[in-house]
Amino acid sequence: MRKPTFSIIAPIYNELENIPELYPRVRDVMDQTGEPWELILVDDGSTDGSTEVIRNLAENDERVRPVIFARNFGHQIAVTAGLDYSRGDAVVIIDADLQDPPEVILQLIEKWREGYEVVYAVRAEREGETWFKKTTASLFYRLIYRITDVDIPMDTGDFRLMDRKVVNAMNQMREKQRYLRGMSSWVGFKQIGVTYNRKARFAGETKYPLRKMVKLALNAVTGFSYFPLQLASYLGIFTVGFTLMALLVSFILFLARGIGFGGQANMWLALLLLGGVQLVGLGIIGEYIGRIYDEAKNRPLYIVAQAPDDRENPEV
Ligand code: UDP
Ligand code: MG
Repeated sequence: MRKPTFSIIAPIYNELENIPELYPRVRDVMDQTGEPWELILVDDGSTDGSTEVIRNLAENDERVRPVIFARNFGHQIAVTAGLDYSRGDAVVIIDADLQDPPEVILQLIEKWREGYEVVYAVRAEREGETWFKKTTASLFYRLIYRITDVDIPMDTGDFRLMDRKVVNAMNQMREKQRYLRGMSSWVGFKQIGVTYNRKARFAGETKYPLRKMVKLALNAVTGFSYFPLQLASYLGIFTVGFTLMALLVSFILFLARGIGFGGQANMWLALLLLGGVQLVGLGIIGEYIGRIYDEAKNRPLYIVAQAPDDRENPEV
């Protein structure tokens, strides 16, 4: 089999009814490119018979490459496995439930051919999702955008195309708690968004219950910002500042009129001061934990778009 130009990765957790629709639609779209491609179906511990369907497809079409997990490891890990096994020059991540229409892949490829290295799909509209999901998702994207240290595009899921260089860079990041959208922003390179209308699920129910959504949100916040660790410092500095000012007022009053704050007020101030000092102390510990966490994530220090002896890529 020729080395594929394009790799399409679809994570699958109990999508029995969706796979027979996903495969022909991806095939028809990818055949239009005129380039060799592969479809990596990562079975994330399905229990509904999806595994057999995937194996069958792979037997009949060698372009379908199955990765079957031993149990459910979660969506982000499933996509990570897909990235590890992918061989294409450009790699597309797509949901298996057809909420991301495969036809949009052609638009992503167009931008890639123009020279963009990450082409992410931005959701202009979302059909067939609950009010709760849409509201929490919208709030989540805006919160993440504000507090994280890298700019992670809003209203953007994992549906995206990445150049081989980007995938290689991401594959160097072996952190256990993974937030792929953040990681693909973090590495840099030329990035651009393409808008699309997110459809309703073709069949079945969401595999993202509230529990998994919260976990993803926590991974996004903790993986790409120190904000929660720094919260204690901010609060502590504010408390200590406020208390010191109150003490100053008390002292001036005492000098001017011979009266300062009385017994109970002073008790409060002492309490506040101590509490504030403790918060600052916690914040300092937090800073060190943040640094330990950084070392533990062991991300590459930098990602090179062009090295000095990189003759194949004169301009990147
Ligand atoms: N998925 C997965 N493992 C999981 C949960 C989900 O591989 O533990 C897959 C799922 O089969 C689908 C994609 O991840 O292809 C997105 O999941 P889903 O559609 O349930 O999420 P939603 O679109 O509701 O946010
Ligand atoms: Mg979905």
